Amino acid sequence: MQVATEQAEVRRVLEEVRCSGHSVGFVATMGAFHEGHISLICRSVAENDFTVVSNFVNPLQFAPDEDFEKYPRNLPEDNRHCEIQGADLVFAPTGEEMFRRPPLVSVHVGELAVILEGAHRDGHLIGVATIVTKLFSIVGQCRAYFGEKDWQQLTLVRRLVADLSLPVEVVGCPIVREPDGLALSSRNRYLSGHDRARAGILSRALKHGIEMIKAGESNPAAVVLEMEEMIEPVADKLGYATVVVADSLQMPDSLPASEPLRLLTAAHFGSARLIDNMGYDPAK
Ligand code: AMP
Repeated sequence: MQVATEQAEVRRVLEEVRCSGHSVGFVATMGAFHEGHISLICRSVAENDFTVVSNFVNPLQFAPDEDFEKYPRNLPEDNRHCEIQGADLVFAPTGEEMFRRPPLVSVHVGELAVILEGAHRDGHLIGVATIVTKLFSIVGQCRAYFGEKDWQQLTLVRRLVADLSLPVEVVGCPIVREPDGLALSSRNRYLSGHDRARAGILSRALKHGIEMIKAGESNPAAVVLEMEEMIEPVADKLGYATVVVADSLQMPDSLPASEPLRLLTAAHFGSARLIDNMGYDPAK
């Protein structure tokens, strides 16, 4: 496995791979790997001839009061996981390599970037869209694997690929969870024992919301209210709990909608802000 720190090297290696007729799979990460990241790498390795994994804590997606400085970093251990899973190339640039000067260009994905996570984390999804576009430009034609864990991010990446005609096939991958339902996240390591025990409420509330829909609840606001009532007394602060049409992220007027739905939530436990979501497809 190669480790590249420069954009030019990644371009050169991947051009060669494609010229010899091989397919490229790409997994974009901010490192601090857990089984969620590993599942994406594993899938890319299974479905492509060559897998490149980027490992870069993107400063553009952190607000000034967020955890950019203390975000967990462990490149040697991450590289070991990549190697074990069979990845071929890791791209681990420095901040300076990615941004020699502060970028003037940013990628705005309209409404999709300003609702939900965008409304709670100023500029976050614009930072995500900008770095993903930049990484796609460096990697070139590929299949790109993103976790459903960050549902809004996945939706937005699909949209930016479509709108900008980028030569990328986006593949959404299922959420990997702990036995009690907690979605794996690099930020789970911020949780104290007490916070960790409380955090399981997110997946339980989402499951409850889905059960209500399955049982015939027609009012999305009623589902939202019950999820809120479950999370609010347990979490330190509720960000949101909502039911949306899965690809537009708009709340349906009534349930069940004819299209797939997504129930999404965000809440604080101690110093960690966690997000989670689950899907409901009326056709299944
Ligand atoms: P991050 O390093 O947090 O930027 O995440 C990198 C990729 O891993 C993103 O596509 C995430 O959606 C995905 N990911 C993070 N947590 C999970 C999880 N628990 N299950 C599946 N994918 C995940």
